[in-house]
Amino acid sequence: MIRLPAFTYVSPRTLDQAVRAITDAGPAGMLVAGGTDLYPNMKRRQFEPTTLVGLRAIRELRGVGGSPRDGLRVGACTTLTAVATHPELARAYAGLATAAGLVSSPQLRNMGTLGGNVCVDTRCNYYNQSYEWRKAIGFCMKKDGDICLVAPSSSRCWAVSSSDTAPVLWSLGACVRLAGPSGERTVPIAALYRDDGIEYLAKRADEIVIEIVLPPADGWRSAYLKLRRRGAFDFPILGVAAALRLEGDVVREARIVLGAVASVPREAPKAAAVLVGQRLTTETIEAAADAAAGPARPLDNTDLTHPYRKKVTRVYVARALARLAGFDQGPVLAEIA
Ligand SMILES: Cc1cc2nc3c(=O)[nH]c(=O)nc-3n(C[C@H](O)[C@H](O)[C@H](O)COP(=O)(O)OP(=O)(O)OC[C@H]3O[C@@H](n4cnc5c(N)ncnc54)[C@H](O)[C@@H]3O)c2cc1C
Ligand code: SF4
Repeated sequence: MIRLPAFTYVSPRTLDQAVRAITDAGPAGMLVAGGTDLYPNMKRRQFEPTTLVGLRAIRELRGVGGSPRDGLRVGACTTLTAVATHPELARAYAGLATAAGLVSSPQLRNMGTLGGNVCVDTRCNYYNQSYEWRKAIGFCMKKDGDICLVAPSSSRCWAVSSSDTAPVLWSLGACVRLAGPSGERTVPIAALYRDDGIEYLAKRADEIVIEIVLPPADGWRSAYLKLRRRGAFDFPILGVAAALRLEGDVVREARIVLGAVASVPREAPKAAAVLVGQRLTTETIEAAADAAAGPARPLDNTDLTHPYRKKVTRVYVARALARLAGFDQGPVLAEIA
């Protein structure tokens, strides 16, 4: 059994106290919500904080407010189970409820939170290993080493963005409200991420995600499809989030965002452009699916082969769009089992 190292746990009751606590802790401090990603990472010595600031006792960070008509606000510490089963989220923001319900296993969804999922660490086969495993191969630049073992001549880390909800929130045009020592700010979720496997978040380490702000759902439909080896609890090795605003049967706005194909959720704007102004037919869906595969450039650092993950992107995009169109089948659906 791998044990947790010793650390100090601070449990603030208010957001102000939490901001003070994480600021006082400095670089040796980390925030923890459900702990479902952070504690395993501490056991493997990928994270080595000496102070943890727990967010679970802060009531203002939990719950869902607002309405689909005006937009919903989801507190960062709302559990994934609560997000997956919330009736208005499931009805008006179906892609988000689906993605939350596909994270990991029921136990981890009962503990894991939406804020933790949005901030979850990037992943790589050479990094998500025990300390001894990583030591045996000489470590890598994401932790304790100085080269990338996937791309040894690269000066950057290519660890993969592996959040299920991040691509969906991006496709829905969600924003994130943050609190830090300099006050509060709200940023589009797309601006929360950086294309870097190490510095993958564009927020400061002492900024706390307070809530996710969803825009009005009027006219929008959304879907999320996930590829993973074991349906019971694996991380995504491909996530496809599609959101469309329809007037009648014509697509007026579209966003397609791919997860687990890069260090950042990857938007496919050319694929969305193919759909705008069109009806959802087999032909338009196929054309959009072809265009969506372009931005997917998976590397050989997660499960299954990267050529397969690239190839299957087209199929998953077609399936997601077919679902939004209400089709049971599409020609590309049969291509890859
Ligand atoms: C076996 C296993 C399978 C998993 N499968 C999946 C999967 O399929 N899909 C998936 O997306 N994830 C998966 N996870 C990862 C994890 O369970 C989820 O991402 C979960 O949503 C993380 O939420 P949490 O509240 O537990 O975050 P924590 O573990 O508490 O924190 C995760 C990160 O977010 C930061 N953080 C947490 N809350 C905040 C906040 N409010 N403000 C700022 N920073 C914050 C922490 O500092 C930490 O860096 C899996 C984990 C395990 C162990
Ligand atoms: S992509 Fe390279 S640097 Fe990043 S975790 Fe993997 S091996 Fe390490």
